[in-house]
Amino acid sequence: MPRPALSRQLVEAFSQMPVIDAHEHLPPERDRVARQVDVFTLFDHYTRLDQLTAGLSPKDQERVFDRDLPLELRWQLFRPILANIRFGSYARPAFAAAREFYGFDDINDETYAPLSQAMQEANQPGLYARVLIEKCGIRAALVQQARTDYDEEYLLPVMPMDTYAAVHTWEQIAQRGREVDDEAPESLDEYLELILEGLRQWKAQRVVGLKMTSRTYGHPDRAQAWELFGSLRTGACASLPDLNPLRDYLLDCMLRMAAEENLVVAVHTGMWGDFRTLEATHMIPLIQRHPATRFDLYHAGMPSVREAGVMGKNSANVWLNLCWCHIISPMMTRSLLGEWIDMVPVNKIIAFGGDYCHPVEKVYGHLTMARENLARVFAARIEEGLMDKDDALALGRQWFYETPRALYGLTA
Ligand SMILES: [Zn+2]
Repeated sequence: MPRPALSRQLVEAFSQMPVIDAHEHLPPERDRVARQVDVFTLFDHYTRLDQLTAGLSPKDQERVFDRDLPLELRWQLFRPILANIRFGSYARPAFAAAREFYGFDDINDETYAPLSQAMQEANQPGLYARVLIEKCGIRAALVQQARTDYDEEYLLPVMPMDTYAAVHTWEQIAQRGREVDDEAPESLDEYLELILEGLRQWKAQRVVGLKMTSRTYGHPDRAQAWELFGSLRTGACASLPDLNPLRDYLLDCMLRMAAEENLVVAVHTGMWGDFRTLEATHMIPLIQRHPATRFDLYHAGMPSVREAGVMGKNSANVWLNLCWCHIISPMMTRSLLGEWIDMVPVNKIIAFGGDYCHPVEKVYGHLTMARENLARVFAARIEEGLMDKDDALALGRQWFYETPRALYGLTA
């Protein structure tokens, strides 16, 4: 069978399978439907970066997203920029959303106004279920908004480790103490007890994982951490720099607690800003020091995807999560997947996380791109005689559903 027909069949089969959406920034639905939405909601989030890179000034971008200005004026500012970003993979889910949810085949001079109206009319309770459950087949989504107050039982929070580890002043430490235990900790060990209690409170609020970022952390040193904690407490030191030995030590203790409390540690790697400072490889010492802690490496360390792949190959406690990757570059994702299937045991790969905040409709387009990427990679392997169609279907089910479900201990 020729490859395009085969990959279309695989996409079709994948779209009947259940999905665990392994990373989102979605707020509770009540927050989304309380907002006014329009065509620019579809170009919020990641495409904002492409708009600036294409030459939209930050001031004009503010005007594009300023709902107090007339829609037409905002469109005129946005229109020349759209011409430069519309072929990029960040934009594709916006066009898919316009087509699949609102019936507009393109976003242009004729459609921007009626599309905006249709989006606002559909911005009602039930939107999330319609998009995520009915259209996407999502059984559960892991959400990061540094909050746990979700009404939707299928949205499960992952909370930032920095809540407790990135404390730079005594006031911040005392505040954490008051939140968890009604009083400030007297010592570093009391603060550690308080963190453990905080993690247990999160678990009671359905939290399934913790989040950190891959950075150049130092080797943990208890004596140094004890001294810094003391100097913050006495006021000898007013505040600590961003990365510091107290943070290194607290993070290290929390990685141990994560294993004991059965919480997965999700890790941002690569992409943003000066991405050299976020390389996945910064995590290697922490991964090796905590063999009982399960690390879910996000974004394939893009653009350093080979390093992330080798980390996945070498470490029993590392999973590789393709959240965000399919819209950063479908082609880079297909190419890395070819290499990862060569190198990494297939039970360690997670296929999808939409990674969106307010534009929930874009999860569908992103998921479609993920299904296409897996299908094309598997179809090429089938053609080479390295697997058959049943193998490809089993891998699809494993990567979209079974692996993230098992790693996070979900029952959905
Ligand atoms: Zn994210």
